[in-house]
Amino acid sequence: MIRFEQVGKRYPNGHTGLVDVSFRVHRGEMVFVTGHSGAGKSTLLKLILALEKADAGKILLAGQDISEITHAQIPFLRRQIGVVFQNHRLLPDRSVFENVALPLQILGLSREQMTKRVHAALDKVGLLRKEKCLPQDISTGEQQRVGIARAVVHKPALLLADEPTGNLDPRLAAEIMGLFEDFHRAGTTVLVASHDLALIARMRHRLLTLQRGRIIGDGESG
Ligand code: ADP
Ligand code: ADP
Repeated sequence: MIRFEQVGKRYPNGHTGLVDVSFRVHRGEMVFVTGHSGAGKSTLLKLILALEKADAGKILLAGQDISEITHAQIPFLRRQIGVVFQNHRLLPDRSVFENVALPLQILGLSREQMTKRVHAALDKVGLLRKEKCLPQDISTGEQQRVGIARAVVHKPALLLADEPTGNLDPRLAAEIMGLFEDFHRAGTTVLVASHDLALIARMRHRLLTLQRGRIIGDGESG
């Protein structure tokens, strides 16, 4: 599903994003990426999303070489991917339903198909009852669940998350990680960047460790 071959990224200000990074993630795998702040976790995710461009090596996503991707191909790439951020970035003046429906609008679905998909996504994160609420009327943990529903509503093959539990207390953080495991069990490839080692250690998945842009570990987290 994801293949990095000797990927390097240096920012124009001289900062090192990634150095000689190679790994493969198989379809359906769940993988954590960890490392201290500045280790390169976000850079790795941004390269997969083609938000940044590698300056060395090769990146393949579902067989497509995204180091050579054109602007016209980027929307098609992103349709295969769902992204969860630390700050869920919900639109404050739209209901939970409308926030989750956003990624579907470009797909040209009928109103009925759209409603069905949004309800299915909200059901998976346990928030069907809150569809009419505004983000400010639900808890932080619930807002993060809405962010996850929005990330999966178009049924992406790959789910990426950047510090998805950063603002949550340990109990809520464990619940959110449990949701990612649910999507993994349902067949989605899941890549979660997190520096919460205590939480990661309680789950048994593959763990890639970055340090100053290099992979220094690839093993079991539990
Ligand atoms: P992490 O997500 O592990 O905290 P990042 O990938 O954000 O790490 O950062 C890796 C390195 O690249 C850091 O030194 C950071 O300052 C630098 N960096 C990240 N994004 C940019 C950017 N847009 N411009 C310049 N330097 C950046
Ligand atoms: P996080 O822990 O969420 O990765 P960071 O502080 O590493 O937070 O980065 C926050 C944002 O700022 C990211 O989008 C990153 O790419 C960008 N960034 C990080 N370092 C720099 C930098 N030196 N110059 C410009 N942008 C940066």
